Amino acid sequence: MTEPLLAVRALVVRYETEAGTVRAVDGVDLDVGVGETLALVGESGCGKSTVARAIVGIAPKTSGSIRFSGTELPPLGTARRRPFLPRLQMVFQDPDASLDPRYTVGASIDEPLQLADPKPPRGERTRRVAALLEDVGLDETFAVRYPHELSGGQKQRVCLARALATNPSLLVCDEAVSALDVSIQAQILNLLRELQERRGLAYLFITHDLRVVRHVSDRVAVMYLGQIVETAPTEELFASPAHPYTEALLAAVPSLSKRGDRTLPVVRGEIPSPLRPPAGCRFHTRCPRAFDRCPRESPPLYPKGPVETRCFLAAPE
Ligand code: SF4
Repeated sequence: MTEPLLAVRALVVRYETEAGTVRAVDGVDLDVGVGETLALVGESGCGKSTVARAIVGIAPKTSGSIRFSGTELPPLGTARRRPFLPRLQMVFQDPDASLDPRYTVGASIDEPLQLADPKPPRGERTRRVAALLEDVGLDETFAVRYPHELSGGQKQRVCLARALATNPSLLVCDEAVSALDVSIQAQILNLLRELQERRGLAYLFITHDLRVVRHVSDRVAVMYLGQIVETAPTEELFASPAHPYTEALLAAVPSLSKRGDRTLPVVRGEIPSPLRPPAGCRFHTRCPRAFDRCPRESPPLYPKGPVETRCFLAAPE
């Protein structure tokens, strides 16, 4: 069997604070195939952004394996990592933090082009900047503008053009549309789909918004307190969520909260601290279906066809 484009195995990310050790990511496995979109979803604080940051190297992993095109990714900042930089890019939530206000749009997009290939003369690079702007639906006149002259949606398009400049195979999008108005979100999501079709790009799409996931992803991985609790093809996850936490996430979105004549149970309360995750099933303190075994034992991921569920209720009979 060929290895997926991205293969993460037993990923652990811990860091020390004055209050103790934060177990941000605790044994995560995930795969992203060539040209595939995997959405990684969960509440804020579940560790999904830390997974993204570990993959691109800006959050050092504590242990585990992150393989890209069949090779273990060396740490960021090492010479061995350099060949992977163009192929694995990230788009962040806040375009203002990603774009240098002193640079024109053209200079911002030209920067990664130069790093990837300093040889082409300026005229050739200008043409490539114009082509990248066109790719993200902006005309070449944007090259001479500064970030403060652009709307939020236009800035995020520039960030996308910048990420695409090195012709990546995988884009990690961390809440990339969360800060945008709903109508602009839809435009950027359509653009991401078009770019995927044209370039064969794969996406790891990190979001807390299940409505967004439904329209962009092939598969969904749901995260709770540092662990994956369910992985499923997108349609299957929305049609019949297998994990009580996935049900709770769907229940929190009014348009997704009903299944036939059944209303999904809403989960109340805050996600517990990753400093002291609950014993047993980590979801048991909020789970409407918890029973006596749940606080005592930690469920594994039970596979059933293409779906994996970390809940005793999904155990084979
Ligand atoms: Fe709920 Fe128990 Fe399943 Fe955990 S194992 S999700 S507490 S029913």
